[in-house]
Amino acid sequence: MPFISSILKSCSVHDDLRPDFELNFKGKVLIIGAGAAGLTAGYLLNRFGIDFKILEAASVFGGRVKRTDNFADFPIDLGAEWIHEDPAVLAKLLHDPQRKPEIEVITYNPKTIYTYHERKLKKQNWASKFYSEHKFKNTTWYGFFEKNIVPNIGDRIVFNSPVSEIDYSGAKVTVKNTEGAVFEADRVLLALPLKILQNESVTFIPELPAEKTDAIKGIDVPDGIKVFIEFSEKFYPDMLFTESLSSLLDESAGERLYYDAAYGKNSKRNILGLFSVGKKASAYTKLATDQEVIAKILGELDEIYAGRAGRTYIKHIVQNWSKEPYIQGAYGIDFPESANKSAAQLSRPVMNKLYFAGDAMIGEDRVSTVPGAAASAYRAINALLKVPLQSAQGK
Ligand SMILES: Cc1cc2nc3c(=O)[nH]c(=O)nc-3n(C[C@H](O)[C@H](O)[C@H](O)COP(=O)(O)OP(=O)(O)OC[C@H]3O[C@@H](n4cnc5c(N)ncnc54)[C@H](O)[C@@H]3O)c2cc1C
Repeated sequence: MPFISSILKSCSVHDDLRPDFELNFKGKVLIIGAGAAGLTAGYLLNRFGIDFKILEAASVFGGRVKRTDNFADFPIDLGAEWIHEDPAVLAKLLHDPQRKPEIEVITYNPKTIYTYHERKLKKQNWASKFYSEHKFKNTTWYGFFEKNIVPNIGDRIVFNSPVSEIDYSGAKVTVKNTEGAVFEADRVLLALPLKILQNESVTFIPELPAEKTDAIKGIDVPDGIKVFIEFSEKFYPDMLFTESLSSLLDESAGERLYYDAAYGKNSKRNILGLFSVGKKASAYTKLATDQEVIAKILGELDEIYAGRAGRTYIKHIVQNWSKEPYIQGAYGIDFPESANKSAAQLSRPVMNKLYFAGDAMIGEDRVSTVPGAAASAYRAINALLKVPLQSAQGK
């Protein structure tokens, strides 16, 4: 995601973030999931004065947007980290000309890039000419949502409320959580990770139409992990790929990147990040304990840097997304034509009662990102507000 996708895909800002909302709906909405998509949906409904609640399974908001404040001398994103688009997207996400998020971003243009392949460490600094990205300087994706999106909607989030059943057979939609609590609304917006829908953690009454269940199964969600390690010395470059440059181009195999996580930050600490998704991530995510994960990583780095990793290691933090009970993976990375069709089908409403948002509903640009998840919420809310309640009944 941080490197190859950015080279291969354009950095334009999502057009969907400026829809002309047509407000024909008055009623109650339940949003399921308080990740980037669910929070953005709540933010929009709040702006239009619609009555809503967000049911979130975890005890925190954010989903795959997650921060740790006390690992280093700067906040660290344990999930989404790169902005991936023109930073103008941050203002567009707010859909409010009165508000400009005052956020310092850095141009992330790593200078020292190495590959390690067949036991040879090779300088590839020329690649920096083809790569430039953006990151937050003093905050994180989590901090962006915390400061700009959540303040007016925080009291609408019901935490520790894993939804297990959605009954849309009647005029109202009835939603139950695993604790037996029941909620009712006119419309429901599902903003769940695709993996949760694939695992059938939520029962639908009646069953979802076959084209929807096929679409849910049609996109592979592979493993994903991030690890941060503090060392007493900086022996590593800005970016290190433990494979050949040519094998990096095969996106379907996933990504594995070691990177200087303190690059461009106000930091005096040596913090190395490991970002990995797809098949390459499974080698770490499937290990039984975090201790085994860090031992594997230090072993890899010691082979490359003659034992310096083990000698200068201070501490680590592991975020294994595959083992998060309410996430269970990373995001779709391999999009054959069939998966592209699934993504389009996924976002279609069912009977104007169930609406869908989330990073799997990525449309044509094929990048699962925070701005992409937010844009999917714009599309879903746009569709939800357009259709009046009466005309939807009985369809
Ligand atoms: C390792 C990694 C690195 C990434 N790096 C970047 C990056 O640099 N830049 C970028 O833009 N994107 C990045 N992404 C992708 C980005 O994080 C996601 O695309 C985006 O956050 C998805 O948002 P979402 O709202 O669709 O889903 P989620 O964030 O997964 O939110 C879904 C929510 O639903 C909740 N939930 C699950 N089950 C239930 C239930 N039964 N009932 C109620 N709630 C439930 C979950 O707890 C969660 O809060 C990365 C992702 C990973 C895993």
